[in-house]
Amino acid sequence: MTKRLITANWICPITRPPIRDGAVLIDGEFIRGVGTAEALRADHPDVMVEDLGHTVVTPGLVNAHTHLALTAAAGLLPPDEFCEWLARVPPVMGAWTSEDLAASATMGALESLQAGVTVVGEIVYDRAAADAVLASGLGATLYWEVLGGRGEHLGEKLERIGFPTEEFAGTRWVTGISPHAPYTAGPSLLKETHALARAKGLPYAIHVAESVAETNLMRSGRGPLADVADRMAPDFTPPGTSTVAYLDRLGVLKEALAIHVCEASHVDLVRLAASARGVVVCPRSNQWLHNRRAPAEQIAALGVPMAVGTDSAASNENLDLLEDVRALQRAAPRLSASQLLRSVTIDGAFVIGLGDRFGALEPYLAADLAVFDLGRTTEPEAAVVRAGGRATLRSVMTAGRWRIRDGAIEDDAGTMESAALAARNKAAAALAPAGR
Ligand SMILES: [Zn+2]
Repeated sequence: MTKRLITANWICPITRPPIRDGAVLIDGEFIRGVGTAEALRADHPDVMVEDLGHTVVTPGLVNAHTHLALTAAAGLLPPDEFCEWLARVPPVMGAWTSEDLAASATMGALESLQAGVTVVGEIVYDRAAADAVLASGLGATLYWEVLGGRGEHLGEKLERIGFPTEEFAGTRWVTGISPHAPYTAGPSLLKETHALARAKGLPYAIHVAESVAETNLMRSGRGPLADVADRMAPDFTPPGTSTVAYLDRLGVLKEALAIHVCEASHVDLVRLAASARGVVVCPRSNQWLHNRRAPAEQIAALGVPMAVGTDSAASNENLDLLEDVRALQRAAPRLSASQLLRSVTIDGAFVIGLGDRFGALEPYLAADLAVFDLGRTTEPEAAVVRAGGRATLRSVMTAGRWRIRDGAIEDDAGTMESAALAARNKAAAALAPAGR
């Protein structure tokens, strides 16, 4: 692929202020330069120019917490109390083959691209679904999920789910690992998983302090998650503390990406600031599952790197990440537009361990772009936060290639949709006997 210059009314590099009449120089899969169109045209007079006119160009967005393989269950699990909802997930997963999970993940990847997302922090249950995410062109940290049983069985567990044994990274992806949550992974499994992540340098994520039920379990050992913990985490005993304090004491918070953090005191946030890699907040998922809002303003004030995730389409209206940013803004009005935009670009890439490849428009990062039609504006970052998303997305590029161009999807998605529909029907049938 030859070099080319993408020019537009506004270029938002994120690492510097927006550039009016800006340009991005692309060479193959990577960015080679960013600046004003005038300067870059003068420096590269022979390069092909693609002018996007009155649009706002941002880096491809980073959705730091997804379960794309659950996308085909969208609409099947209505908003409900967290534990009620959680109990309905295993029947859906149980009804699906590896092919169904892959079709569902492909569907989620396409919805991500349509929202301007080009990078995800994906929880992985299955090799085929992970491959489907990468085949879609998305960049990803693939957090292989482990849960149930004791730490000494980690090796067998990983083998069963197809965790890679040799190759841990490609140009656009890295392997990570994620014990699901402190009520489905007991202390020995948490420690073993964390030790493996530290030894191999793998990104490590865990669902943390999501629900009141989890807090009650930690404090007293009682409540609706007690049965789940009995079954899944045989060596768990209630610590009598918060989840964050418990994980910190186990030593597994170090460099961890903490997902949700709805139930966290100031002291918990200080612990996270001292140890964790960052936090992903999922505002619309938390609302869907009747959980509290994460204390986003305090998290930001303490300097904890904060990203935003949609969580799965089974606990959200859709995978339109900027809708979650707007939900976050309503709940945390003190966060500035540029802070909010950083959470789904550079900070999102950082917390999932991909900050050296994605999340900004700078030389040597991936040529991943999201292009929005936002009319004439003098404040492009605020305009993206206010009105960016699926409704205003014009084009998306990953690795130097347009995946969506002027609203049209470049690949044929027909086959994918019928496979995902079949998965959806199976999931609906699996849920039917439960009286829904
Ligand atoms: Zn999740």
